[in-house]
Amino acid sequence: MEITRRQAVAAAGASLLGGALASGKASAADARAIADVVVVGAGVFGAWTAWHLKRRGLKVVLLDAYAPGNARSSSGGESRVIRLSYGGDPLYSAMARESLTAWAALSDRQTLPLLHRTGVLWFSPAGDDYMARSMAWLKANGIAHLAGDTAWLRARYPQIMFKDGESGFLEEASGALIAGRGVQTVVADAGLTAQRVQAGLPERLSDGTLRVGGVLARSVVYACGPWLAKLFPDLLGGRIVATRQEVYHFGPAAGDGRFSPPALPVWADFNAGDIVYGFPGLEGQGFKIAFDRHGAEVDPDSQDRRVSSAGVDAARAYLAQRFPGLANAPFVHGRVCQYENSSNGDFLIDRLPGFDRVWLVGGGSGHGFKHGPAVGARVARHVADSALPVEPRFSLASKAAVQKRTVY
Ligand SMILES: Cc1cc2nc3c(=O)[nH]c(=O)nc-3n(C[C@H](O)[C@H](O)[C@H](O)COP(=O)(O)OP(=O)(O)OC[C@H]3O[C@@H](n4cnc5c(N)ncnc54)[C@H](O)[C@@H]3O)c2cc1C
Repeated sequence: MEITRRQAVAAAGASLLGGALASGKASAADARAIADVVVVGAGVFGAWTAWHLKRRGLKVVLLDAYAPGNARSSSGGESRVIRLSYGGDPLYSAMARESLTAWAALSDRQTLPLLHRTGVLWFSPAGDDYMARSMAWLKANGIAHLAGDTAWLRARYPQIMFKDGESGFLEEASGALIAGRGVQTVVADAGLTAQRVQAGLPERLSDGTLRVGGVLARSVVYACGPWLAKLFPDLLGGRIVATRQEVYHFGPAAGDGRFSPPALPVWADFNAGDIVYGFPGLEGQGFKIAFDRHGAEVDPDSQDRRVSSAGVDAARAYLAQRFPGLANAPFVHGRVCQYENSSNGDFLIDRLPGFDRVWLVGGGSGHGFKHGPAVGARVARHVADSALPVEPRFSLASKAAVQKRTVY
């Protein structure tokens, strides 16, 4: 009987899973089964980390308590914005640019696209500082974009109601990523299958080998998204905070193409930092809208995932003002997810204190999805090169316990 690649990968993982040691030391037989790296968590950060580690020729085991891109994870669901504008922040702008190239390459290899280059339209009252800094970065880095005043916006997007004095710009090559299916594709493209294991804390054996979730490994990466603070409550409680977030899909009238690509791009109403954003209809899912504001603190395992009627009403009120053609559109479906917020929105990529080869990766803070490829590449560099300094903004030391967002 022929063994498929998937079965072979699963079998290799299973032999690594069988390495429970009585002696607290890896035997010669176990040594052969020791993985170079076990990645705990197959969300977008863990999946791309595993992908990059595999590209480096390392033996990788991927564990997930549920499944890659599962419905409870922060990476699940339909779509995520990918944009390069970060108010001119050179760190995230450059990472988004690197990631866009990687997502595009992966998408191009698939039958169904993971990247929809719809463009991303930003608008705000003219003169907004964040917008001006974003545009200056796009210009300085030769990124294709169009910009204009209220008249330009109104002429180009008649389905949106712009207020007098607003201006905007369109990142032409950015757009939307397909989320849950995207993560599953990254895992498959790495030639991996996630083992269904809920991992606990790392154990260090007397010979320095690490054991996590029954797997022996030389290095461990915990990319557990909103679960990081549950797994390491003393260290990360209050420093990575999961908040409830809702998204809403509304259905345009039959045959109405004004709210789908190419007529409508992904859009973001900067709204002085209280961002409202949305997607044109993708893959038949309807027009999507969300508020970027942080909701109540929640538990990712058990939070109530029913969309609130207050949220649907708020979305509808916004539509009535900005997208009058959708004012009476039916609500077709919604989703409840969570952000895993660091204090200011900067990611966490640093070692677990007391362990040289155990990494904590997370704090996506509502903007992490697009950066999966760049985050994964950075983590893989750390695993390969222990002397590589941690980016100060990603350090554990920089993670405060008071929420004060500065990264949008
Ligand atoms: C509504 C919403 C809108 C967003 N919009 C955008 C956007 O437009 N653009 C953007 O770039 N980002 C956006 N984000 C943010 C982005 O989606 C997240 O930052 C990112 O997906 C986080 O990925 P992650 O891999 O860190 O976490 P997750 O996706 O949550 O993955 C963690 C994984 O770890 C597993 N796990 C946890 N604990 C264990 C354990 N003990 N053992 C084994 N497995 C474990 C979980 O099952 C899960 O699969 C949005 C997020 C939400 C919720």
